[in-house]
Amino acid sequence: MRHRQATTDMHRASTVSAGGIKVGDAELCVISAGQLDIGEPQKALDAASCNDGKLRDFWTESSIVVEQNVLAIRSQGRFAILESGAPTPDSSPSPLNSGLISAGIEPESVDAIIPTHAHLDHVGGIMRPDGQRNFPNARIHLHPCDVEFWLADERLGTRGERSALVARRNLNPNLDRLVLHVDDQETFPGVTAMHTPGHTVGHTSFVIGSGSELLFVVGDIVHHPCQLAYPRIRMLFDTDPDAGVETRLKVLEFLASRTMPAFFYHFPFPGCGFVERAGEGYCFLPMPM
Ligand SMILES: [Zn+2]
Repeated sequence: MRHRQATTDMHRASTVSAGGIKVGDAELCVISAGQLDIGEPQKALDAASCNDGKLRDFWTESSIVVEQNVLAIRSQGRFAILESGAPTPDSSPSPLNSGLISAGIEPESVDAIIPTHAHLDHVGGIMRPDGQRNFPNARIHLHPCDVEFWLADERLGTRGERSALVARRNLNPNLDRLVLHVDDQETFPGVTAMHTPGHTVGHTSFVIGSGSELLFVVGDIVHHPCQLAYPRIRMLFDTDPDAGVETRLKVLEFLASRTMPAFFYHFPFPGCGFVERAGEGYCFLPMPM
């Protein structure tokens, strides 16, 4: 099912959902938390690291607008959402909340919010601007390195200050609701954490499912399909760009060498598909949901 509603300045807000599919014992659907403008391509991506200029073929607009695809999971009678979207400008229902309700999932029934990392477009939808919780009964699952990094005073006054302030607004009221996971830990039934640092120190991907029925949640190791064709391009938002490239290459090769579908938060909706080798890089084959 898929339908769109009106727009706002901050998001091109939409109520969009797709699904569901079953992976192992987990039932999944994808809900849009709206779109996000991540700025001029040459600033968001280190264009100098792509010296042949072909990078320009990937966009015609002056800025890169990406999706925010939130995976909703029902497993063993409990609901989780992976990511919470960027902050909304007012306290009216966010595109994510509206989308969840349209899909039959009441925000009160969400037991867990599982962001891949603590950047503003991943934890910014935990709290509403009026200080109320969007998901009043949810615990928040994060890697401890990201909690420590983004709540540290050292982030203030740096390029990461905006994300740090959003992390403070959304995490500080919920410190007693945090569930800290480490590499290779099942953090929610059927959802296993895989520490994939580089984009942030605690960035975590997830493997959903069991046995041969698996889905790999990529998170922000990749923001745009051009990073599959040119996986060595450095990304402005990576807190450690060299580690970001190293992790990206490792994960893309892992996915291309298997028939495991992957889920990309920022790819065209719904963000699910396969990674294949193509030339010196990789390509994305979307999978309908
Ligand atoms: Zn992101």
